[in-house]
Amino acid sequence: VKVELIGWTGMHMPTRILETQLSDRLFGRIDNSLAAQQTAADVLAEVAGRICYDSFHLPSPDTATNEGYLANIIKQRHESVLEHASATFLVQHVSRSLLAEITRHRHLSFSVRSTRYVDETQTRLVIPPALRPYLDEVVTPTDRAQWDVRTEMDALLGHTKATYTLFADLLMSKGLTRKQAREAAREFLPGGITTEFVVSGNHRAWREMLRKRLAPGAAAEIGELAQKMLCQLKDIAPNTYQDF
Ligand SMILES: Cc1cc2nc3c(=O)[nH]c(=O)nc-3n(C[C@H](O)[C@H](O)[C@H](O)COP(=O)(O)OP(=O)(O)OC[C@H]3O[C@@H](n4cnc5c(N)ncnc54)[C@H](O)[C@@H]3O)c2cc1C
Repeated sequence: VKVELIGWTGMHMPTRILETQLSDRLFGRIDNSLAAQQTAADVLAEVAGRICYDSFHLPSPDTATNEGYLANIIKQRHESVLEHASATFLVQHVSRSLLAEITRHRHLSFSVRSTRYVDETQTRLVIPPALRPYLDEVVTPTDRAQWDVRTEMDALLGHTKATYTLFADLLMSKGLTRKQAREAAREFLPGGITTEFVVSGNHRAWREMLRKRLAPGAAAEIGELAQKMLCQLKDIAPNTYQDF
């Protein structure tokens, strides 16, 4: 699982736009925070929330800090204010099984490597997390003779590539375009082959996804992805993810 945060929301001009409404205290805090642009998502959520109640004068000490403010937003489930900022990841070396799971989150947006257009003869298999400890071992399941995990996976991959190439070549020799031939040949690729995609979502959508995929019942591979995403999201929006 390889995941890299490649885009996130910045914030510009809000202090000037809201100059007349912001208290000096809030103005200074927001200005400092935005100078770094690191936590623009947290600031944007606070500004959006304070618009709702015209609370730029910081009426409550409990919610006078950004952390306190967003803690209350999360507690009250006023989560629409977390929809204004978003984050984009490049995800690589994950399985198409993981892709099927993550695309179920309807508020995330995807651009996925196409198996119709892209040649898959160099494809790799993702090693399922549960198998990693046994990768270079000869293991003896109770009902089978000894077998070697890596050898079994290499054999499957070799067979997969051979079948894929055979059908793609056959169909092209019969006059189909390369895209049409790959479209048919891809049906023989297993769910464990690697894919890559760009995925974007606002912070409310990411929180929804993380809540489900960090839970103990989630599949191991997507759980690993979610954990890595959370670390990177905490870098750009620590207060938005303070309860994770
Ligand atoms: C451990 C685990 C096992 C799973 N096993 C299976 C399985 O065996 N088979 C299977 O098909 N799926 C399975 N799923 C996928 C699961 O059913 C959801 O599709 C997936 O988790 C996306 O979550 P979601 O639909 O709640 O929310 P998202 O699509 O992420 O949307 C976020 C929230 O928006 C709201 N929302 C979105 N769309 C609607 C809508 N149309 N109507 C009302 N509210 C909406 C809901 O509050 C929802 O929780 C599994 C998920 C997990 C975490």
